[in-house]
Amino acid sequence: MTPKEVLALAKAKDVKIIDLKFCDIHGSWQHFAIPFTALNEELFEDGLGFDGSSIRGWQSIEASDMLVMPDPRTAFIDPFVEVPTLGLICDIEDPITREPYSRSPRGVAKKAEEYLKATGFADAAYFGPEAEFFIFEDVRYQSGANESFYAVDSSEGIWNTGREEFPNQAYKIRHKEGYLPVPPADKHMDLRNEMVLTMQDLGLTVEAQHHEVATGGQCEIDLRFDTLLKMADQMCIYKYVVKNVAYRAGKTATFMPKPLFGDNGSGMHTHQSLWKKNKPLMAGDGYANLSQMGLWYIGGLLKHAPALCAFCNPTNNSYKRLVPGYEAPVTLAYSARNRSAICRIPMYNASPKATRVEFRCPDPSANPYLAFAALLMAGLDGIENKIDPGSPVDKNLYDLPPEEAAKLSYVPDSLRGALEALKADHEFLLKGEVFTEDFINNYIKLKMAEYNEIRLRPHPHEYSLYFDA
Ligand code: GLU
Ligand code: MG
Ligand code: MG
Repeated sequence: MTPKEVLALAKAKDVKIIDLKFCDIHGSWQHFAIPFTALNEELFEDGLGFDGSSIRGWQSIEASDMLVMPDPRTAFIDPFVEVPTLGLICDIEDPITREPYSRSPRGVAKKAEEYLKATGFADAAYFGPEAEFFIFEDVRYQSGANESFYAVDSSEGIWNTGREEFPNQAYKIRHKEGYLPVPPADKHMDLRNEMVLTMQDLGLTVEAQHHEVATGGQCEIDLRFDTLLKMADQMCIYKYVVKNVAYRAGKTATFMPKPLFGDNGSGMHTHQSLWKKNKPLMAGDGYANLSQMGLWYIGGLLKHAPALCAFCNPTNNSYKRLVPGYEAPVTLAYSARNRSAICRIPMYNASPKATRVEFRCPDPSANPYLAFAALLMAGLDGIENKIDPGSPVDKNLYDLPPEEAAKLSYVPDSLRGALEALKADHEFLLKGEVFTEDFINNYIKLKMAEYNEIRLRPHPHEYSLYFDA
């Protein structure tokens, strides 16, 4: 869509408000709105000012003025605002230099796509994230909710502590048996349908929706793959829809990776493939029908996996998901069909077009612009340097004999571990200035502060372990 077409769409839909949205470093959308009467074609060139110092991790107070630059291709009618409102996703620019802001995640994603083209290896990288999330009862409707440490299970309306509750007279899903039951065990069919229909209205292509393994109302809605920037934009819309549909129904949706102890967490497995002149490049006659390029791409993902975790698993809570036994990966290995490896090559459809690498590490607390850009840069580094991924491991990696387990490498076990890995290994991200040294340093500083937020607080479980010490 051009600026002219955005104006025409707004007129046709009787739009009164233009909502300008942009993504911060943490992956959250921020917004401010202007009346439709303030929108004109020049605004797409000139941008609009805001205070960049009040956004976490961006500008300092003495250089706070920044510009939002609406991207006309992203226009959508916002289904969650009463007054007819048109949303626009924005880039960020420095008002003095008029350069794209190097700390803007969307800018990083754009540069990653440009870098891909510059390498000549491929002209498009496709990303297919499978985000999972939990739907809980909205705490607004729970008496005493504030005193509880636990989320409220929206399937049964009981406090879910990760333990089995008996007796079960409410079609409660048994522990780890939430994958694919029909209603009334699946209590979120209608809610997910509403989410899917809203996503479709907003131009997203949904492939499937279902209940997930965890009992506490865990859900998954899968989008059809798309190119990097478009897919990251879509993930922002996806989260906006999931949260708002749930909220309107008196529930809350969370993309927190591990809300419940002892049950599956939420992942955002990310399927990736490279294409050139409409030809798929990942398919060949190597292991699991992969091409040499596909294998090198995996080599890059495996080599840089600990550093990638800083972007793919960017919260303290992320590391409570990356533990054995819950279908989340812990081992840096690749394999066809093996859900305990960090890289899986799905074999449902062996056609070259469908051949892709599934990186299972990311979770939905990741900023999609940064995570997809970092994954692409790691894969490209693998191709540039012909990084051999080693031999595949087609075994249950949660259950290896100790001598075999000792030979393998693992994901970091804390946010701090991931940030240290990023500090030691980020040359591959600096190519094409996709990420800058300033971006990486600022990110590590910001996230170390987040690490300390948790480190400095006594954990409730410490009372159980140590109170009587
Ligand atoms: N919920 C699992 C995870 O944390 C994944 C389950 C699945 O294979 O879809 O990654
Ligand atoms: Mg899943
Ligand atoms: Mg998957």
